[in-house]
Amino acid sequence: MTTGHVLRVMEQFHSIQGEGVHTGRSAVFLRLAGCTVGCPWCDTKASWPIHSHPLVLVEHLVDTVRQAHPALVVITGGEPLQQDLTALCQALAPLAIPRHLETSGVAPLSGSFEWITLSPKRHQPPQGDLLACCDELKVIVHEPADLEFAMAMATACKARGPSRQAPQLCLQPGAGSATGTHLAIRHIQKHPQWRLSLQIHKWLGLP
Ligand code: SF4
Repeated sequence: MTTGHVLRVMEQFHSIQGEGVHTGRSAVFLRLAGCTVGCPWCDTKASWPIHSHPLVLVEHLVDTVRQAHPALVVITGGEPLQQDLTALCQALAPLAIPRHLETSGVAPLSGSFEWITLSPKRHQPPQGDLLACCDELKVIVHEPADLEFAMAMATACKARGPSRQAPQLCLQPGAGSATGTHLAIRHIQKHPQWRLSLQIHKWLGLP
């Protein structure tokens, strides 16, 4: 079925999920264009200017996923929620491949997902609806204030979604940050409800 819907897309590729709770699983990544959050350590800065990336038919994205037949499809960015994901999720649904969203949570939720990873940023905190419905909270750690932020976000998730299962809690050291690695490990040792997330795809030279 042709919907004619388009999204600005930076890249689409089949790899493994390299971070978070689903590390190691076969995944197609749909990296949508556009992000206004402006994290100084961002490793996908090329995604920021949305109009420098092409418009791609949703059908084409679905074909990519269908042909790869992965364990899951990860809709990421950029900040994917800065585009409306409703049509994409509807078009992917017949494939029955779990749809995962990776978001900083700065824009309202659109679309429907089997798994939502919220990676909130201190300088631009997330929307309440993402705090209430995320399945995984993943906080990047560079300095001690990031740990305080992580704890505050975990508390906010609990307060926003008391009737649902609390999200899995991940601390991810900033890329190349020895301080972040040390802080994250020490924190996890003291607070075992948290787990370490590492970007193993980078070690393996995978996209
Ligand atoms: S939210 Fe993600 S894509 Fe946007 S600037 Fe931050 S790390 Fe980069």
